[in-house]
Amino acid sequence: MINNKKISKFAISIIKDLNKNNFEGYLVGGCVRDLLCGLEPKDFDIATNATPEQVRKIFKASRIIGKRFKLVHVFNRSELIEVATFRSGQDLTNNGHLIKDQSGKIIRDNIWGNLDEDTYRRDFTVNALYYSPISKKIIGHKNGMGDIHKKSIVSIGDPKKRFSEDPVRSLRAIRFSNKLEFKIDKKIKEAIYEKGALLAGISNARLFDEFCKIFLSGMAEKNFNKLTSFGLNKYLVTTDPQKNEFTKKLLSEALRNTDKRLKNNLSVTPGFLIAALLWPELIEQSLSKNEINLRKFFRSMDKVLRRQHKITAIPRKFHSYIKDIWVLQLKLHSRINKQPYKTFKHPRFRAAYDFLLIREKAANEKKYLGKWWTDFQINDDNIKRSLINNLKEKNLEESMKTFGFSQELI
Ligand code: ATP
Ligand code: MG
Repeated sequence: MINNKKISKFAISIIKDLNKNNFEGYLVGGCVRDLLCGLEPKDFDIATNATPEQVRKIFKASRIIGKRFKLVHVFNRSELIEVATFRSGQDLTNNGHLIKDQSGKIIRDNIWGNLDEDTYRRDFTVNALYYSPISKKIIGHKNGMGDIHKKSIVSIGDPKKRFSEDPVRSLRAIRFSNKLEFKIDKKIKEAIYEKGALLAGISNARLFDEFCKIFLSGMAEKNFNKLTSFGLNKYLVTTDPQKNEFTKKLLSEALRNTDKRLKNNLSVTPGFLIAALLWPELIEQSLSKNEINLRKFFRSMDKVLRRQHKITAIPRKFHSYIKDIWVLQLKLHSRINKQPYKTFKHPRFRAAYDFLLIREKAANEKKYLGKWWTDFQINDDNIKRSLINNLKEKNLEESMKTFGFSQELI
């Protein structure tokens, strides 16, 4: 049923080596699920009854990682495969390996178990299937295959309890249902409504990882809409799409643009998306009598970033990138004398220009400024000069105002 040709050779070789050393080894989780659904797996995870230390000994190029959830990374030049030891998910010994906080959230899970037990600690039935590329058999949760055929995301065990143990499962249910075009089981829906708020207690680092999975895998717009319908958007993005029509449209345009870029094999970065998603917040903070107040604008940048960082960590390296895109939005309005050449040379010009087009789309603007910059980029020096000169003659006053954003554009 699964074609081994679709599986990473390196992953198969790891399973063979585990077997040679008398350990079990299976592909598990997302890769088995995706292969059964006819999708290309993002990565290949392996489950085994060998402990992390035993796995580490078999593979020279490997390292043990994680504390909350110990596992082994086995790598070669081009690939990295996660090898996880079967876990029981139940703290029978109570010797501190499975630690929960008051809300029932699991904060550490390092109790080894067998395959059957490992099945039950997984989140959804469709994620609890194990495939051996050697025997070519699929085993695991008894409903896993059935739910794949039924196209249904079903929790393993009571979702209210499972989502208390790990609130991120709410986000995962939504993400998988969009990715696979599966429906979400009714009990899960109820659990999301009831337990979704526990997401506020998840670390910003983990939510940033989830943010990237949700918004940088080609389903950003769909995922955002579904998150919003469950009221979970606020745990990932501080900007409220309901604030006004412009905000709603800008968020949609930015998310749609990310999806489109991925479809066309163009690069995407969380920095660009965050700059776009937070723009309405920044503008709101910077307005004074319906005009952008520059002092407020510059002062608010850090404030807006900090608020978002609290919920989904924004790695340091993106901060200046995000601020560059914002400041360049102002500079794109200023086109007198040498200014356009300077702006054009800025290393973030392209990103800033792309964002300008998104802003214009969202604002139903006449696309006048975006068109001007498109012309400026594609034409030779003579035309560049005349673009600036024409502007001087016709629009000097407007250009002088430079940062006087037209109301529609914000
Ligand atoms: P994708 O890689 O497409 O995001 P995935 O299902 O492979 O999807 P991973 O985060 O890579 O997701 O996790 C691999 C497997 O580990 C899952 O299929 C699931 O069985 C298990 N798993 C991951 N996260 C959790 C969780 N929070 N709770 C329970 N099981 C989980
Ligand atoms: Mg995976």
